[in-house]
Amino acid sequence: MNREYYGKLIFELSREGRRGFKLPDNGCPTPAAGIPQALLRDNEPELPKVDEPTIVRHYNNMSTNNFGVDTGFYPLGSCTMKYNPKINEEVAALPSFAALHPYQPAETAQGALEAYHTLQRALSEIGGMSEFTLNPFAGAHGELTGLMVIRAYHDSRGDYKRTKVIVPDSAHGTNPASAAVAGLKVVEVKSLPDGTVDVAALREALDDTVAAVMLTNPNTVGIFESRIPEIAQAVHEAGALLYYDGANLNPMLGVARPGDMGFDVMHINLHKTFSTPHGGGGPGSGPVGVRKGLEEFLPNPRVIKRDDGTYALTDSETSLGSISATLGNFAVQLRALSYILSLGREGLKLAGPLATLNANYVKESLRDLYELPIDRVCKHEFVFDGLADKSTGVTTLNVAKRLLDHGYHAPTIYFPLLFHESLMIEPTETESKETLDAFIDVMREIAREAATEPDKVKNAPHHTPVRHPDDTQAALTPMVTYFDLKAAQS
Ligand SMILES: *Cc1c(COP(=O)(O)O)cnc(C)c1O
Repeated sequence: MNREYYGKLIFELSREGRRGFKLPDNGCPTPAAGIPQALLRDNEPELPKVDEPTIVRHYNNMSTNNFGVDTGFYPLGSCTMKYNPKINEEVAALPSFAALHPYQPAETAQGALEAYHTLQRALSEIGGMSEFTLNPFAGAHGELTGLMVIRAYHDSRGDYKRTKVIVPDSAHGTNPASAAVAGLKVVEVKSLPDGTVDVAALREALDDTVAAVMLTNPNTVGIFESRIPEIAQAVHEAGALLYYDGANLNPMLGVARPGDMGFDVMHINLHKTFSTPHGGGGPGSGPVGVRKGLEEFLPNPRVIKRDDGTYALTDSETSLGSISATLGNFAVQLRALSYILSLGREGLKLAGPLATLNANYVKESLRDLYELPIDRVCKHEFVFDGLADKSTGVTTLNVAKRLLDHGYHAPTIYFPLLFHESLMIEPTETESKETLDAFIDVMREIAREAATEPDKVKNAPHHTPVRHPDDTQAALTPMVTYFDLKAAQS
């Protein structure tokens, strides 16, 4: 394909008088008939005028500029960009699911409700929880829902002074944001140098004004928090509840369950751990699980199985209310159910250990050339603090951009904020040893280049369709139409 030509902006390909179709003049009234004069536009819309082959090639060209899990290795830490099996898409697209109306009577949607209920039971088993709601639309939405459950619990006991949430400084940014949206004050506790929670500092922050403590395990630097039982005891003695951010449950699959560790409320990101394509930041689903005794606070409606084997929707008086119009992002739920059922118990039990093995393999293969600030066995992901040799001036951003030249998506960069040059790698369990070895070779080559030809790395990428967009200007003066762009250029 002539990328240079077809990759131009569609308005640049426009030629006066070109068109891709012609409608017959069949005497029908014009579409404007009956629309009041005041609402009619004065001028024709400024649309590009192109023939059909040009527009088809233009859009196909654009579609191949995209990077996705289906085109290459995508080690984006914290995002779990694992391969999404295609069977999930087929299940989600089955007409008997896809053609349902969200408001049709429950009696006519028994299969869909069974799917919801089966997934809800599977997640309860996987998380060690009593019950899940699948209604929240994303991880962050799940956090908000979980915190609202916690508020509803404290309120139900007349315990109104609990207005604070303790969050470790390494937490995902959505944790403090969700707490704020839930109307709670955030208290941050620092991490220890090895990246784990400072339990002494946590104990000090606990009192009868704390509603909840939010933890991520394995934490944001990929380290397993081994002192959870002790933390859970302290939190419960203070009358607070313990919240588990299970967005990245991947390494725990088949190994450990948050419910068994003493967590009271948790969310899971189905789009990460249970495989839905989410390269655009979505679509998502953030189911929330609760331990026994908290079920009544879950959002309305809930799906229950009646004694006669049929399914129904119920509302609870003590519920926090509704957090979504219906039962959440059903197509993502179906993909998760398909993923869980096709892997089965045995397959799921392998996912966590293999994700952990892959991450440690990559870490150990690169640690001589990249700075490893936390030298421990990691779980599904780990963080380098840039190149080991800082004298070349080559930064994490440069390394990330150079990886694009080699056909790899960059790892997560400059997060977590605990280190200046964070480079956060999550290979996931779906990658073969050959893929990991090829990635390791490229990372080693970039480190060598940084020492011998640093400018080549600093000026990367050299081979991508878009090279050096100005991130700052793009944010400060976004040009969202071609006409803004043309005006700015003239
Ligand atoms: C991705 C992620 C979230 C937020 O999930 P969204 O679906 O993007 O809202 C929360 N916590 C952690 C640890 C995450 O990795």
